[in-house]
Amino acid sequence: MPVTTSANQGTHLSARTEVRGEGEAHPGPATRWGPDYDALRRQDPELAGLLLAELDRQSTGLQLIAAENFTSPAVLAALGSPFANKYAEGYPGARHHGGCELVDLAERLAAERATVLFGAQHANVQPHSGSSAVLAAYAALLRPGDTVLAMALPQGGHLTHGSPANFSGRWFDFVGYGVHPKTGLIDYDKVSDLARKHHPKAIVCGSISYPRHPDYAAFREIADDVGAFLIADAAHPLGLVAGGAAPNPVPYADVVCGTTHKVLRGPRGGLILCGADLAERIDRAVFPFTQGGAQMHTIAAKAVAFGEAATPAFAAYAQQVVANAQTLAAGLADEGLTVTTGGTDTHMITADVAPLELDGRTARARCAAARVVLDTCCLPYGAAPPAPTTGIRLGSAAVTTQGMGEAEMGRIAKLVGAALREDTKVRTEATELTRAFPPYPAAQPGAEPG
Ligand SMILES: *Cc1c(COP(=O)(O)O)cnc(C)c1O
Repeated sequence: MPVTTSANQGTHLSARTEVRGEGEAHPGPATRWGPDYDALRRQDPELAGLLLAELDRQSTGLQLIAAENFTSPAVLAALGSPFANKYAEGYPGARHHGGCELVDLAERLAAERATVLFGAQHANVQPHSGSSAVLAAYAALLRPGDTVLAMALPQGGHLTHGSPANFSGRWFDFVGYGVHPKTGLIDYDKVSDLARKHHPKAIVCGSISYPRHPDYAAFREIADDVGAFLIADAAHPLGLVAGGAAPNPVPYADVVCGTTHKVLRGPRGGLILCGADLAERIDRAVFPFTQGGAQMHTIAAKAVAFGEAATPAFAAYAQQVVANAQTLAAGLADEGLTVTTGGTDTHMITADVAPLELDGRTARARCAAARVVLDTCCLPYGAAPPAPTTGIRLGSAAVTTQGMGEAEMGRIAKLVGAALREDTKVRTEATELTRAFPPYPAAQPGAEPG
């Protein structure tokens, strides 16, 4: 019978709590330095229960959220490591704290690997998230009140591209471009017209729902034409870029922002790439302007992820992600959904469920009931709020990490179609499929994480 005590409450968490005999706990010296899930379970069964339930959730349903993935055990090991204990304000060789010799090497390794992976002159691996990376890019290049041209939010822009609920919309003057109503593709003539009319200080390319490759050369030309900076917010496709399965914005954009946790399959976090000319401005915009101490465990995990992303296996993965998304898109069209732009170049699919006489929320709930996890999303020319959106967004990055291929994508498309029709025959199919391709094979659902 597990013995739980309150001996550790109010003290710092020891790496291991020895429990000897009834109710007698000796926090004692740490005897392990890595994650000790047994100790967590004894000390805090409530939280440990949530963690196990989440592992079970991820291991028994299809995760089709386009922004998610499954990190490797190596990435998780770096995240749950003593690097989490270290304070490191500043940059390698110029820290505000002692004892940074080893984290300096880890951060240099991460930045060096990122520059090689993406062919950039400079990488800042400190941004805590994709949004923090964009905030720092704006802080480096703009002043409050400057005009910025970015994809309009209802057309697929991110919150950081001018939402009134976000710092971007409050501090800058955003002008929105969009996609062509017929093709769903970015209307570059319009982008050019808007740039000439508004003379933005920066142009942002990047989206949360555009399933095609942006034409970075076209954006560069428009930016040069009006003397604007070009910021590529490549949070979604960056992993495909690393694997050679999507065009690289680095040669075109002044600054590239990204996340490390989407297709790139690393820890949750952000990344900025730029030329040597902007390196100092970007670094100062991250620290000390927008952030404090760097999260060294996350930076160490980013280094691991960049190492993984440089392998031929990751390049094969990235190709498979795209092939899987294309097969899934075709299957969804067969199920009666209208797939935006008729398909995808990436890991992402957006589709309209209006032909099935559903709205996006109902579609998401029906899929969730069948253990298929996906998002709703705005459609560029969908119904305006408060009418509910009829868009859903799916991605192939996580299921591809699980080892699923095009045959499974065909099954998933049919499963989504059946779930949307509330066909109860498919109730267990998502779980069967996920169990056949477990995200963490050693961790059987319901078992202790090892
Ligand atoms: C995901 C995303 C972000 C934000 O990333 P967070 O880590 O959630 O802050 C920013 N821009 C785009 C285009 C994204 O897709």
